[in-house]
Amino acid sequence: MTYPVPNSLSPSRVESFTSCPMAFRFASIEKLSEPPSPHATKGSLVHRVLELLFTHAPADRVGDVVMLSFQQAGAEYDSDPEFTELGLDDAQRQAFHDDAWALVQSYLHMEDPTQVRDIGLELRLEAQVGELTLRGIIDRLDLGPDGELIVTDYKTGRAPGLRYEQSKLGGVHFYSFLCESVLGQRPAAIRLMYLRTGETITAIPSSQSVKFITTRTTAVWKAVERACISGNFQPRPGKLCPSCAFQPWCPAFGGDPTKAAAEAPIAFGRLAVA
Ligand code: SF4
Repeated sequence: MTYPVPNSLSPSRVESFTSCPMAFRFASIEKLSEPPSPHATKGSLVHRVLELLFTHAPADRVGDVVMLSFQQAGAEYDSDPEFTELGLDDAQRQAFHDDAWALVQSYLHMEDPTQVRDIGLELRLEAQVGELTLRGIIDRLDLGPDGELIVTDYKTGRAPGLRYEQSKLGGVHFYSFLCESVLGQRPAAIRLMYLRTGETITAIPSSQSVKFITTRTTAVWKAVERACISGNFQPRPGKLCPSCAFQPWCPAFGGDPTKAAAEAPIAFGRLAVA
């Protein structure tokens, strides 16, 4: 069976295909919508809190304004399917919000938002590489002391160990490439703020790192294209499997992938995304 070849890629899709082509097929080619996870929803909520905080003038990003941003984001998520479909009971809901608040507090220990010169929030950027469109969302774009561009990306998971640091930074340089393509200026630095552990990893983009992204992304896209044409998306069992919603249809676990399109939307209570 052949599949239509996608004409756009994002950092998360590149990561998804390289981690497990079979999971990529389910999520990005067949567009089967996975049920929400507490971890991902909490991450989205914390991103929204910080986005709301930064809509205020720098001097106001303190005290009650932080709490109001948290409450507003919480109220928005109260009716969002990403939150309601988690089916949390009262105690779980309280723990969810307590942990989200702890992540916001951790952010405030890492950086003083009154001193940040932000010029963009949740920026959606896209650029062409040949026939391929690369897309990404930058959490925050700042001006440094000398007017240089600095990309800030919030992470609500744990910081990667040294072994994995470089592979995680590959996604970071993707944003550098987008910035340079769209804004005409390579960022001077890209900061990954790991709110869970209070660590910040800073990457300094170079012409080589940007070139590496176009080369790597083009190579991944070619591999995606081959898989779509041949229909051969191999499962790659690994650390993602325990939390993979597609495991019932994964051949590595005795499942039949051809049944996923019919069965997953019923099992997840979600229609495939358009
Ligand atoms: S269960 Fe593991 S191998 Fe199978 S699709 Fe999911 S991540 Fe890939």
